[in-house]
Amino acid sequence: MALYSEKVMDHFRNPRNVGVIEDADGVGEVGNAKCGDIMKMYLKIENGIVTDVKFETFGCGSAIASSSMATELIKGKPLEEVEQLTNKAVAEALDGLPDYKMHCSVLAEEAISSALEDYYRKHPEARPPKG
Ligand SMILES: [Zn+2]
Repeated sequence: MALYSEKVMDHFRNPRNVGVIEDADGVGEVGNAKCGDIMKMYLKIENGIVTDVKFETFGCGSAIASSSMATELIKGKPLEEVEQLTNKAVAEALDGLPDYKMHCSVLAEEAISSALEDYYRKHPEARPPKG
């Protein structure tokens, strides 16, 4: 029974970019009560580009797959693009998630924006003007 796409299973079994960035420029931690997922996201940012990203996720398979896919989507990307990453884009990149697991991909979006917010707090000059 194919509850999860092959991509979800692949990112769950072999998550990309797992770990900690000791001298991260931005760190974000979020959690959800539904499946008790906790996600921590580390960003390394240089000249407005995410040069490195790592994550630690304690949670369900969908949360791990979502954070893994999200790191792949934002690595090497300019901050403006990273800011626009939605949980929908993450879920689509995974070829879909079951409806009742969509909140796990929301967590990936929130972890990234929380890490970005942390970076902007330390570097207000880097915050792009709001349109
Ligand atoms: Zn979950």
